Amino acid sequence: MPELPEVETIIRGLEEGVRGRTFLDAWTDSKTLFKNISFEGLREKIKGKKIKGIRRRGKNILFDLSDSSVLLIHQKITGHLLLGKWQKQGKEWASKTKGALSLDPANRFLRVIFFLSGGLDMALSDLRKFAKIELWEGEDLEEYFKSFGPEPLTIAFEEFKKLFSSKKGKIKQILMDQRFIVGIGNIYASEILWEAKISPFRDAGKIKQEELKRIYSAIKKILKKAIKLQGDSFSDFRTISGQKGRYQNFAKVYQKEGEQCPECGGKIKRIKQGGRSSFFCPSCQK
Ligand SMILES: [Zn+2]
Repeated sequence: MPELPEVETIIRGLEEGVRGRTFLDAWTDSKTLFKNISFEGLREKIKGKKIKGIRRRGKNILFDLSDSSVLLIHQKITGHLLLGKWQKQGKEWASKTKGALSLDPANRFLRVIFFLSGGLDMALSDLRKFAKIELWEGEDLEEYFKSFGPEPLTIAFEEFKKLFSSKKGKIKQILMDQRFIVGIGNIYASEILWEAKISPFRDAGKIKQEELKRIYSAIKKILKKAIKLQGDSFSDFRTISGQKGRYQNFAKVYQKEGEQCPECGGKIKRIKQGGRSSFFCPSCQK
C-alpha cells in the first residue's frame, strides 16, 4: 500500500503537473470507488472547477478546488495516480505516450480518468479497485481529519513522546495506526524499527525515552530517504509518470526474510503480527 513517501512523491508530481488546471470531464468504469458521492454527482460538481492547490494529509491526496470544495483521493492498496494522455482503443484506454505508461502492466488498470484543461489527463490505475474518491466541503474535511494522528515529518519530539503516555499495544501496530500517527504502513514500520533497533513486539508503553528518541529519529530518516528515492515499488506503486520508485533497492528488512541482516549478518525473520508480516532482525532488534 502506498505510504507517506509514495503519496508525497505523487503530490510533488501533481504540484508541477496539475496546479492551476481545470477539470473538464471525468470517466470511470468503477463507480464503487466513489464513496460519499456518486460518480455522476462528482462529475457534475467538479466540471469547470480549477485546482488551486494540492496537499497531503497522511495518505490522502487532496485537491483544493476553486469553489472551496476538496477532492480527496486515497490510493489504498494498489492504486496510483498517473499523468498523461489516453485515447480509447475499442474498449480499452491506451496511453498516447510510449514508455512506462503504455508498457508497465501496473499502469494499465485504468479505473478513473479526469480530463484536465491544457490537454492533460489524470488517471487512477488500480489493480484491486480499493482506492477511495470523495468530494468534501473544506470545513467538514478539517473536522474529519481531527481524528487523525499528527504528521510524522513535522512532529516535535516532546509531542511524539506524549503520544506514548499510557499507550497500550505493540510498537509496530501502533506506528501503523493512523489515529496515533499518520502515513506509516507495513513497509516503513518494519524499516523504521530495524533502523531504531527496536523489536516490533515491544509493548509501546514500556519503551524508554532513549529508545523513543531512536524511533523518532528513525521515522524522520527513513521517510525522508524514501521520499528522495520516490517511494517503494516492490509492489504496484509507480510515480506520476509511471516509473518505479527505488526504495525497494535499499530496504534493509522489508521482504528480506531469510537474507542477511546488513548490520550483524544474522538471518532476517518474518512473523505475522496483527494479520501483517513483520520483518526484523532478532539479534539487532531488542
Ligand atoms: Zn541484525
